[in-house]
Amino acid sequence: MAQYIIAGPCSMESMEQMDQIAQALIDLKINYMRAPLFKPRTSPDSFQGLGKSGLPILEEIKKKYPTLKLVSEICSVEQFNIIAPYADILQIGTRNMQNFELHKNLAPLLESQNKKVILKRGFANTFFEWIQAAKYYESYGLNKKNIILCERGTRNHCAPEGTTLDLCLALKIKFETDYEVIIDPSHGCGNSLFIPSIAKAIFQMPFDGMMLECHPDPKNSISDAKQAISLTELSDLVG
Ligand code: PEP
Ligand code: MN
Repeated sequence: MAQYIIAGPCSMESMEQMDQIAQALIDLKINYMRAPLFKPRTSPDSFQGLGKSGLPILEEIKKKYPTLKLVSEICSVEQFNIIAPYADILQIGTRNMQNFELHKNLAPLLESQNKKVILKRGFANTFFEWIQAAKYYESYGLNKKNIILCERGTRNHCAPEGTTLDLCLALKIKFETDYEVIIDPSHGCGNSLFIPSIAKAIFQMPFDGMMLECHPDPKNSISDAKQAISLTELSDLVG
């Protein structure tokens, strides 16, 4: 079974940026686009995402590319309500994996609006903790088939980029449970140089999909510039 790909910027920045990426995804027959409006950042001084001011861009992208499914991170029910008319899949980021009140409140909303959740692994969480977080969604009303688990690397104070992509734990989830499992090597490696090699390896593994950060001009990406691949690199990888 071929893996699906979710690709796009770390943060939505402008119509021009989103339009260039969307066109590349259509050309590459990639059906899922990252469209992050709300960015939970380690520092309050970092770009926090376009927020509500980015909604006209989402509206335009949906109109121009109706087949693209949009994936966007949310940190609260308020953010869900803002972005729900546009996003097909909602991402819960690594920092919110154990935000249980969010899971409880979100699960019935996702189910009633027929949307999926991507639950990223917390960067310091175990197999058991990750599965329990996913179970919150099921217990509070979301069908298991709408839950996607995403490995995105764990803290490693020795590795040069500070994260280690834990493919063994992701395989354990894939073999021992029936959750859909995808891999995010962008946050898991933290360096665009590593992406082509690791992505090719992931394609050979029994995962359901992969999430990749890309940008038309990676070095000028407002967030996570070091790990974004260019649209040419994306095309070389999947084209
Ligand atoms: C992201 O996908 O841009 C992101 C912030 O991911 P994570 O929660 O894995 O850091
Ligand atoms: Mn990012």
